[in-house]
Amino acid sequence: MSSDMVVLKNVVKRFGNIVASNGINMNVRRNEFFSILGPSGSGKTTLLRIIAGLERPDKGRVIINEDDVTNIPPYKRSIGMVFQNLALFPHMTVYNNIAYGLRLRNLTEDEIGFKVKESLRLMRMSPEVFANRKPSHLSGGQKQRVAIARALVTQPAVLLLDEPLGALDLKIRQHMMLELKRIQRTVGTTFIYVTHDQGEALVMSDRIAIMHEGKIEQVGSPREVYEKPRTKFVANFIGEANFFEGVMREGFVETNFGKIKVKEEIPASRKVIVSLRPERIRIGNAAVGSENMFKVKIIDLIYRGDTLIVIASLEGIEIKISVPAIHPEVMRLERDKDTWIGWNSGDEAGIFELED
Ligand code: ADP
Ligand code: MG
Repeated sequence: MSSDMVVLKNVVKRFGNIVASNGINMNVRRNEFFSILGPSGSGKTTLLRIIAGLERPDKGRVIINEDDVTNIPPYKRSIGMVFQNLALFPHMTVYNNIAYGLRLRNLTEDEIGFKVKESLRLMRMSPEVFANRKPSHLSGGQKQRVAIARALVTQPAVLLLDEPLGALDLKIRQHMMLELKRIQRTVGTTFIYVTHDQGEALVMSDRIAIMHEGKIEQVGSPREVYEKPRTKFVANFIGEANFFEGVMREGFVETNFGKIKVKEEIPASRKVIVSLRPERIRIGNAAVGSENMFKVKIIDLIYRGDTLIVIASLEGIEIKISVPAIHPEVMRLERDKDTWIGWNSGDEAGIFELED
């Protein structure tokens, strides 16, 4: 048995002049929580609809559970779907909403009842309390749980989720993220989760594919894509980063404001961008002795409770530094004053070659 549950091979999909899927190759493993992350319009929904069979690719193959399903209609693919706006049937009770997919199969009412109650319990919703309610008497988070229960109760090979938490308030969304992760671990079903929210993708995923203009720029674990972004787009989209432009020399990058010592090897004389996460930069006395040290002027101090964000100017370039708010150095920082920042070679998140 292949370790892959879903495989996309060179999938191309155009809408007029727009290339929504521009040669997508993607492997999603069995039992994996896999996220597709990208800004609005990058082609996430199109990709999900192609996997579901709701959209036909112009080119390429779709394989689910080792079967080539490229020409198979949606209802014959073993998939469940949860969308932000995929409403529950409003006139049906929670019970009948969840039972809907089961009724299309030849199950007895006893079997259906057992499965509906079991799936409600998996959602941590008591069947006694919720089975007979109508969707209008549920909160947003509860509706999404019922939608997930309805999609999972038929035991699909893959569950596709398209921004399912988008409409929920922050607190409920944060809670539902952990719930979704727990549910996925419990049932073991392969989840493919589409979102534009990097926080959601980082918290829940085993692996993340980052999409940009119809292409996948990188696939990796949350740690990999954050710590080793392969493109400038990924470095910018996941987390925050400072970017310094310069020219590659032997072991350092030459910039307008001086040399930056780096670890990564890129052929000399190429134009590059060094990216550096705000939390990798030391400030004040803590910066002294670093391989890379620069004098900066503090423009602003933003208190965020756990961290302090320092906005500083380095020869006119705005730099963001994030330090734990309890750090003793923090007390000495003042707006409009000069201070030192520093970091060592290898602290950079990446170095990206610029195309001419
Ligand atoms: P995302 O889900 O990442 O926001 P989509 O997959 O919905 O992106 O869209 C990708 C691109 O394809 C967008 O430019 C969008 O306008 C276009 N697109 C998607 N579906 C259609 C369609 N049915 N007709 C025309 N253009 C479409
Ligand atoms: Mg979308």
